Amino acid sequence: MQHCDILISADWCIPVEPTTTVLDKHSVAITDGRVIDLLPTDDALRYYEPGAAIERPGHVLIPGLVNTHTHAAMTLFRGFADDLPLERWLREAIWPAEAQFVGPEMVRDGTRLAIAEMLLSGCTCFSDQYYYPEIVAETAADLQMRAMVGTPVIEFATQWAASASDCLSKGADLVHDRYADHPLISSCFAPHSAPTVSDAAFAELRVIADQLDKRIQIHLHESVGEITESVKDTGKRPIERLSELGLVNASLMAVHAVHLTGEEITLFADTGVVVAHCPRSNLKLADGIARIHDLLVANITVGLGTDSAASNNAIDMPGEMRTAALLSKARSEDATSLPASAALRMATIEGAKTLGLDADIGSIEAGKWADLVCIDLMHLNSQPVYDPLSQIVYTVLPQQISDVWVAGRHHIENGRLMHIDENEIIRRTAEWRERIGQSTSLGPV
Ligand SMILES: [Zn+2]
Repeated sequence: MQHCDILISADWCIPVEPTTTVLDKHSVAITDGRVIDLLPTDDALRYYEPGAAIERPGHVLIPGLVNTHTHAAMTLFRGFADDLPLERWLREAIWPAEAQFVGPEMVRDGTRLAIAEMLLSGCTCFSDQYYYPEIVAETAADLQMRAMVGTPVIEFATQWAASASDCLSKGADLVHDRYADHPLISSCFAPHSAPTVSDAAFAELRVIADQLDKRIQIHLHESVGEITESVKDTGKRPIERLSELGLVNASLMAVHAVHLTGEEITLFADTGVVVAHCPRSNLKLADGIARIHDLLVANITVGLGTDSAASNNAIDMPGEMRTAALLSKARSEDATSLPASAALRMATIEGAKTLGLDADIGSIEAGKWADLVCIDLMHLNSQPVYDPLSQIVYTVLPQQISDVWVAGRHHIENGRLMHIDENEIIRRTAEWRERIGQSTSLGPV
């Protein structure tokens, strides 16, 4: 018998790589936070002597879900300014609120709330872009959640930084250097959008991102208004402008990419640009419906993101996965578009590729981190189970997520947070609701 730290056995397992085939009665062996084996349960019980044996009949085991784009701290703005178009939402509600309330304490409390919600809904890794990225990184590391922390790059002065140059140097020092060898925290640069960054700052960003070998994630072609503004101000569409600045390459992660021409899709395919697709945020802000079917036909890597809870208003990846599958069919008028297997891949391994983390996460394979999710299919809404994969994408609700592990650490058991005090988070969130809700300069827009 060989020792392993943990042996998880479930009725079904979908490793995603090398296959999305549903495996019956399989077990995952974990040691030192990494998967060391995936094998039939009968064999596992003969071969392994586990420190802890976890059996989940009626459950399906999948890789942890990867949220490729969010602004975790903005969860404190959930429901605060709904039903507005993007530009008015940003300029009249969100940016004034941020100017008044964003600070280390707000970012820490909002990020804690978001991490708890994401873990409860099966997300084991999120890519963030927000002010005080050092607080986001510290909070994720403290809660032992996996995160890619994006340093915001924005031209005008904010509470966090005086200029775009200041953003870059602070990000390099406080996030990239400090967490260079951390097992859970990685980093990237995150200019907000093309209109909010000058050519000079983009040039500086390009040099630093190249030196540090970091990805650049940016809201890109999210709305018609963004493109119109860019053409008016610069004579160019944002992608054309970024291309001329040398930023359209395999390090670029285009968030949203709703409005793309055929030529822009070809450019993305030729240069290796990856896309973070945020369907529910696009729907709620009336941005439009991204051409996901066309992106996939062009072999472009597409991951899924929730965007912030202020524009979604949930940050649960199962719901995002389902919406993506349904929307792709509607947009392409093709019911075979984005089938369940592709939707699950988009929420796992393709998301990991989008973040450049696919060597370590995104599938259940020996050597990768044990970022895992167990889902209880013995709920009425998921019965009968002809195909567990189909049920995951089209029926599962967050409350069916029974167990979540990040690097082998058991975060969720029986649908409850094991290491985070939910009542404390609710209490702190209520305090923020008082402060934000009583602000006299805001109110209904
Ligand atoms: Zn966003």
